[in-house]
Amino acid sequence: MIATRIARIRARLAAEGVDALLVTQPSNVRYMSGFTAGHDATLLISGSAALLATDFRYYEQAERQAPDYGLFKLTKGLAEAFSDLAREAGARRVAFESTHLTYALHQELAKVEGVELAPIKGWVEELRAVKSPDELALMRRAVAISDAVIAALPELLQPGMTEKQLAWRIESFMHEHGADEPSFPIIAAGGPNGAMAHAVPSERPLVPGEPIVLDLGARVEGYCSDLTRTVCIGQPDARFREIYAIVLQAQQTAEAGIKAGLLGKDADALARQVIVEAGYGEAFGHGLGHGVGLDIHERPGAGARSEDRLEPGMAVTVEPGIYLPGWGGVRIEDLVVVTEGGVEILSAATKDPVVVVR
Ligand code: ZN
Ligand code: ZN
Repeated sequence: MIATRIARIRARLAAEGVDALLVTQPSNVRYMSGFTAGHDATLLISGSAALLATDFRYYEQAERQAPDYGLFKLTKGLAEAFSDLAREAGARRVAFESTHLTYALHQELAKVEGVELAPIKGWVEELRAVKSPDELALMRRAVAISDAVIAALPELLQPGMTEKQLAWRIESFMHEHGADEPSFPIIAAGGPNGAMAHAVPSERPLVPGEPIVLDLGARVEGYCSDLTRTVCIGQPDARFREIYAIVLQAQQTAEAGIKAGLLGKDADALARQVIVEAGYGEAFGHGLGHGVGLDIHERPGAGARSEDRLEPGMAVTVEPGIYLPGWGGVRIEDLVVVTEGGVEILSAATKDPVVVVR
């Protein structure tokens, strides 16, 4: 699998007329090599060599996790070692990930004699966007953990507990059920706080009858899940039911219409049209969704301006929302996999918003 990924990058090198790709983005390092400490390693992939540069702390781990790579032992900084690294890979013209390599490191690398740098964008990210069955198997495990949180809400949720307390209970639950860690900071936003799409859990107590937006995900062997449900302790009022029904219809319309061949913006439009027609277009201020994998936000985009074309095997979220300042918000999010003729919905958590606490 790693060998196939390397071969695809080598084909790209040949097509673009460069000798090697320097991989610095941590998830790209992991994806291309299998080495899990992507923050502390750099890859150099040329037509004839695949090298993983890291320091003493990781020599053993790198040899174990990345057998397709030659270990390049870093005893000094990458800039000081860069000339040797490029020579070992037989590379003169080296492509670098311009959206990740820092300006400071670029300045240092550019001083190295005999090596020419060429900025590129998204080569590895494009490969990552389409998931293999092995990757999807890990994502299904992560999804099962986030689904289990929703199933456990009658035990986890108590009226009067603060958003922070609920977020911690959810985090602890996910660890107990096999998550390596949450895939992003959990959002638990009650009442008016839910009007902020990316609210941070506060000391505000959760009150029966109001909307509570819960956005959470687990990470399993690097791969993320991402799930949002909006719930209510006890019976919601008429306004909640009205807004919830619109968002649910928008979400189900998008899930029914998304298939391979659509652009990200076409997917977004499926849900947006429902919300606009209901008169809440201004209140849906973010994109429909995003790719998920080793990173919680990755290719493809599925927002109103995304020109990314959806392909079978891409994992994307479908998460329309309506946010009303002073009242709150409703967002419903599933993780789906694009297929030739539609989507497979991975998330199985109930969309019945009523939680009867035990
Ligand atoms: Zn989410
Ligand atoms: Zn999301």
